[in-house]
This record gives sequence, structure tokens and C-alpha cells, in this order.
Amino acid sequence: MGVEGLAVEVGVDMGDDGPIVVTSDRPVCIVGAGVSGLACALRLHRAGVPVRVFEAENRVGGRVGSEFVEGFRFDHGFQVLLDSYEELAGVLDVPALNLRSFEPGCVVKWRGDFYPLFDPVRRPSAVPRMMAKMIGSWRDWMKIVGFRARWVNRQTVRFSESPGLSVREFLERERLSSEIIDRFFRPFFGGVFLEHELSTAACFFPFIFSRFSAGSAAIPERGMQAVPDQLAAGLPADVISLGRRIAKVGVDHLVDDHGERVEAAILVDARSLSADTQTLAHGAAVHFIEVPAPLPERRTLYLGADDGSTINVIAPLSDVQPSYAPAGRHLVAVTCYTCGSRSIEEIGEVARRELATWFGFQLEMVRLLGFRSIARALPRFVSPSNRVSQRDGERYRIGDVTEYPSLNGALRSARIVAESISRRVCDGR
Ligand SMILES: Cc1cc2nc3c(=O)[nH]c(=O)nc-3n(C[C@H](O)[C@H](O)[C@H](O)COP(=O)(O)OP(=O)(O)OC[C@H]3O[C@@H](n4cnc5c(N)ncnc54)[C@H](O)[C@@H]3O)c2cc1C
Repeated sequence: MGVEGLAVEVGVDMGDDGPIVVTSDRPVCIVGAGVSGLACALRLHRAGVPVRVFEAENRVGGRVGSEFVEGFRFDHGFQVLLDSYEELAGVLDVPALNLRSFEPGCVVKWRGDFYPLFDPVRRPSAVPRMMAKMIGSWRDWMKIVGFRARWVNRQTVRFSESPGLSVREFLERERLSSEIIDRFFRPFFGGVFLEHELSTAACFFPFIFSRFSAGSAAIPERGMQAVPDQLAAGLPADVISLGRRIAKVGVDHLVDDHGERVEAAILVDARSLSADTQTLAHGAAVHFIEVPAPLPERRTLYLGADDGSTINVIAPLSDVQPSYAPAGRHLVAVTCYTCGSRSIEEIGEVARRELATWFGFQLEMVRLLGFRSIARALPRFVSPSNRVSQRDGERYRIGDVTEYPSLNGALRSARIVAESISRRVCDGR
């Protein structure tokens, strides 16, 4: 798990400024066609504001992407869309993504056994099985049901909540047992935060807990790439310039790496967690493994909770969304705990063996198909004061680095900035 760079800027209120005149010769220019850059462009375009987007890569999506390899769909890291994110509806036609969902819960592998942990409200039929084999105490489960009731309508992060506390410190302060913290919260939310110390700022926890409780973790029929593809499809073809790396972002212009200058009425920097930005980041890796049969608990995440476990999360992708594998074949995505100095190939091999042992599969029937490694996957969100400001002098900044590490955070920043710019443009007419 890589930690790079240095967080330098402190989040501040944005505030609008004076009117701006935007024309097709001097449009709003957005650097980066990740989800935030695309969503901002889409909102501005819908508001009638001329906009252009410059993207270094030859595809849109940034950290959200998928490749189709020999009939299998590999997302760039195991990612899910939580259909309870409130920012989706403003920019996406969610039904057109043909989402399919994981079961609300997971199965924990611990001490040689499997422990089902389902949402007791949405899967009451699983409660007797959970009672027969329980992780944590009754008191823990009463607390968890209490969290659910307390935060059910939490749509975004309240940055001033639980100041100075990490998620782990918050859970300990709530007097949850170390068993439930280490055997459920650490593998589950560690997989979400991409760090297993639970050092993420506690203010993020009510939001993410609430979104998992209020909705479903889902994947689109055409892979996660369908999300940015749909955003891009809402823009005229000449708005996005792919393969155009921006070398300099000025106040009223930008310069690409061939030295070409583009005039801009206003600049929006949506590079987010790119190598050009100086923000602390967690890395991530995922292995794609073919298994000979669906896993026993259908459409359910499996978590490794033993101290020596290499596997953190097994996500049965093609069981949830059959289009992720050729007909009759079965694809899982496996994310692993940080494994010392071992190479990613070695970790994949250990994970393959571990997976075969867990489910009693013949080893030669469990095939490692490939892996993806992302050095800068999620901003380290140890304190809300590490957020990058959405205003940098005359320029705007958007992306999850300015809010919190999730698609909802990226989309929220895009909405706030697009609304601010639209107000200024309207004033100028
Ligand atoms: C492995 C992994 C798992 C995740 N899991 C989840 C999940 O389950 N749920 C969830 O909600 N979120 C998840 N996320 C987070 C989510 O993907 C991000 O929050 C979101 O994609 C951030 O979008 P963005 O637009 O802020 O940034 P980015 O996607 O980083 O976009 C930045 C764009 O700027 C471009 N760029 C950079 N430099 C330049 C330049 N000089 N010139 C031109 N273009 C440039 C980049 O190529 C990129 O396209 C996960 C992320 C990863 C990597």
C-alpha cells in the first residue's frame, strides 16, 4: 500500500466571485476527464456554458475504468457504485447502467470457519444463521443496529464530526469489542478505505456506513467504465480532447505538453490524485481469478479475517454481473492485505492457493488471469483539514481530493463548482 507525496493545502469555503464572460473562443477549460471533470463539464454544458475538457490519457474515467480481456471484464481495482449516493441522479441515468447488486452483507473467514454477517433489517431470514455462529457480542450488534438508525439519512460527510478521531478510535470509544473491530470492521471498511489500520478520519464513517445500509453495492453491466462513458456521452463530441496532457495551468490559459496555448475564461483543475498533484494517497491492487464454480454464498463478498490471511476481500464479479465473464465461467476479484516485500505476482499466487483451500477447489482449476495495480488510488483522508481547497486563487479545483474519497465526493465537488461558475456566468450576461 503506497503512500506518496505530501498534502499541503487546507480546505476552505469557496465563495463566488465577480461575473465572467464565457464564449466558445474563451470557454471554461477543465483539466482531467475523470468522473469529477466529466460531471462538471456536463452540468456546465446543460446550463449553456461553453466548456472544453483536456485529458492526458486516451480514454475518459481516470481512476474509474474497465478493460475487456479474453471475454473477462477487469475493472481498474475492485470498485462498486453505491446506488444510495445522492449525487448520482443529477448527472447519471442510473437505470441505463443496468446495475446488479451484491447481497447486503458478507461472509467472514476466520479460525477455519465461515461466519455469515448480513444486514439483519434487509435479510432477516439470515438472522438465525448469524446467531448460530456469531462474531462479536450481542452488545456489539445492538450498537451496529443503533448506528444504522442514527445515520440512516446521512447523505454526505459532516467534516466537523468526531474531530481528531480515527475510525478505529471512534469504534473503540463506542466500546465495540476488539473481536468485532478486528474480524468485521477492519476487513470490511479497511477494504473500502484501502488501509487496514482504520486510520481514516472518523467523520467519514457515518456517511459510508449509512450509504451501505441505505442502498446496495452494485456494478454496471458494462463494467465501471460505463459510468464515465455515460457522462462523456452527454457532451458534444468536440468538448473532450483525449491524449492531451496539460503541462501548465495558468490563471486564464493552459499550455499542453506540445507548447500549445488555450485561452480560458475560467480554469477548473480536475487532475485530482494525478502525479501532478501533491496529495497523500493509498495504493491498491486487485487480482482477477477464474474459479471453477460460483462461491457457496451467492453474490456475497467474502472477507479474510485471520491475522495471517493474505486475502482481504473476494468479490464474485460474474455471479453478480454475468457479463463480467464468458458464459459458464466464473470471475472473482481478490484484493489482498499488504504483504511485506512480496511482489504482486507472488501475492497473486499465494491468494490463488488460499482461495482454492478456502473453498476446496482443485488448485489447477483456479486460474490467475491478471492483476491491476494503482499507485495512487484513494486520497488519504486522515483529517478533513487535509482536503485540497476548491478555490486556488482564480482557478477552481474539483475531485475527491477536495471532498472525501469516493465517487460521491468527486461528483459533489463537480456540482458545487459547476453551480458556482454558472452563477457567475449568468451574472455576466
Ligand atoms: C482501486 C479503487 C477502488 C475504489 N473504490 C471505490 C468504491 O468502491 N466506491 C467509490 O465511491 N469510490 C471508489 N474509489 C474512488 C473513486 O474511483 C474516485 O473517488 C473517483 O474516481 C475520483 O475521480 P476524480 O475525477 O476526482 O479523479 P481521477 O479519476 O483521478 O481523474 C483525474 C483525471 O485527470 C487526468 N489528468 C491528470 N493529469 C493530467 C494532465 N496533466 N493533463 C490532462 N489530464 C490529466 C487523469 O488522467 C484523470 O483522468 C476507488 C478508487 C480506486 C482507485
